[in-house]
Amino acid sequence: MTEPLRLRAAWVLPISSPPIENGEIVLEEGKIVEARPVPIDGAPVSDARDFGEAILMPGLVNVHTHLDLTLLRGLIEDREFFAWIRELVACTETLEEEDYLASSTLGAAEAVAGGVTTIGDCTPSGASMIAAKRAGLRGIIYQEVFGIDGRQSVEQILSDLNYRVRALTWQASGTHLKVGVSPHAPYTVRPELFRAVAKYAEENSLPVCVHAAESLAESQLIREGIGPFAEMFDRRGIAWKAPGGTPIAYLHALGILSERTLLVHGVQLSASDRTLIAQTGAAWAHCPKSNAKLGNGVASLGLLQQCYPQSLPRIGLGSDSVASNNTLDLFEEMRFATLLQRGRRRSLETLCAREMVEMATIGGARALGLERKIGSLEAGKEADIIAVRADTPGMMPCYDPYNALVFSAGARDVVMTMVSGEVLYQDRVQVRLDLNEARGRFLEAARRLKRRSQA
Ligand SMILES: [Zn+2]
Repeated sequence: MTEPLRLRAAWVLPISSPPIENGEIVLEEGKIVEARPVPIDGAPVSDARDFGEAILMPGLVNVHTHLDLTLLRGLIEDREFFAWIRELVACTETLEEEDYLASSTLGAAEAVAGGVTTIGDCTPSGASMIAAKRAGLRGIIYQEVFGIDGRQSVEQILSDLNYRVRALTWQASGTHLKVGVSPHAPYTVRPELFRAVAKYAEENSLPVCVHAAESLAESQLIREGIGPFAEMFDRRGIAWKAPGGTPIAYLHALGILSERTLLVHGVQLSASDRTLIAQTGAAWAHCPKSNAKLGNGVASLGLLQQCYPQSLPRIGLGSDSVASNNTLDLFEEMRFATLLQRGRRRSLETLCAREMVEMATIGGARALGLERKIGSLEAGKEADIIAVRADTPGMMPCYDPYNALVFSAGARDVVMTMVSGEVLYQDRVQVRLDLNEARGRFLEAARRLKRRSQA
């Protein structure tokens, strides 16, 4: 039986209740016992760690990452969405298993150092499972599935998927990670394959993640069978009959939408889609920086929120890959999301800093179906906790912790990251990850990618 441990700081943010000034969190065996004000006789005690002028809060939940793609940070810039994704696929085809492992290891290190304790990660290679496991992260690792043309039969793809899901499930045992499947997007997965993956996920109770309603090009393909994706299908001899309607209606007709489904992007969302989301209970990953950087637009947070008229919104923040962001800094994502919506609405009535911090914590937990375990500092929940310095030159003075976190803080201000009571990162040091080996392979692969792009 380990003794309770106490973490103290100038601010404790339980999320589920108002901020506590001069607070402490009591932990026992990796779980939260209580978040409360430091008792009146709160003299220093041997089992307490006092962070001083800092904010203690639940770990951040990054609901959409591609740790595999960390190597592509800054490589493909200033391209329209279609050209960007084509170049991205061409680059990844040159990567080997060891490159992916180095890439996701550096990605996992970045996440942990930035106060992210939970991820929803889409991986073609499976390498991010190994990296996330070594780093001690929590989350869902979605095995990606592709197949728009008939090169491989649906049966072959499903058999390969099943093999990979079993391997990942074996790797995930004894960790904080779960396995899901990700039929990538409406323009990379054919309808029969979507149906088959939906059935497979249902039979095995697996979480599902799909990129949906991200670009105008995708909407044009579904609605009218025109635009850059349709032209590419033509060139490659891929048969395509536009189903009509919206991408969300299309995915619903294929049986993809359910409570286990996480939809990523939602820029091209129509009012009629809200009903389908409300009926099925699917969740959203809001990725404002990636959407803006690729020129895909600004998702309406108002519309996304209206998908949940009767219940708490299942909307989390996602950085997307660093190939389109170029950072996993969720503080920056919170800031960007807030400013974009205020600019878009020309109003600050409906979005305050507190709501944005909720989206990056309990909202993300709900989106991944983990709200009973994480997302707030409540008794019985896992001790996934971070400490953010509030006395750095860029953070002082801290009048209100929510506003400081959204409008001033950055990943650089995180000084401690803990998952289930285990410290993963402290004072700029990765506790579990050894980055030396990964860094060598990473830089070598980056040199190869650079040579390729200059050829
Ligand atoms: Zn993505």
